[in-house]
Amino acid sequence: MTLCSVFNCNERSEKQSSSGVHFHVFPCHSKSPTRFRSWVNYCKRKNFNPGYSVRICSKHFKSEDYNQSDLLRQQLIPNIKVKVKLNTNAVPTVPQNIPCSTSNSSNLSEREKRKRKKEKKKLYLL
Ligand SMILES: [Zn+2]
Repeated sequence: MTLCSVFNCNERSEKQSSSGVHFHVFPCHSKSPTRFRSWVNYCKRKNFNPGYSVRICSKHFKSEDYNQSDLLRQQLIPNIKVKVKLNTNAVPTVPQNIPCSTSNSSNLSEREKRKRKKEKKKLYLL
């Protein structure tokens, strides 16, 4: 079974690409240490030292992080399972949505307040 190493991401797969989510192996530490660091930092785990079997799921990568010809092939021939590869310098950049956290809910209420203010303004204008 493959598990995503990113903190708060519960993505896992029993079989490869069963849910359309792919898993990517960490870059080689000795070959690309900076990229390796960015991947580790992105996971937001304490004392995290990824080994050989550690992976990050495709939810954390943007479409431009992928090999464009692989993506195109996947779109053109949806019946065939194409293994879409990451670009050699790709780093996970998609902002993580952290569920059930206090900061998230306060953000929401802030947005609600602003929305209500806007609506009040509209009322005054009318
Ligand atoms: Zn993930």
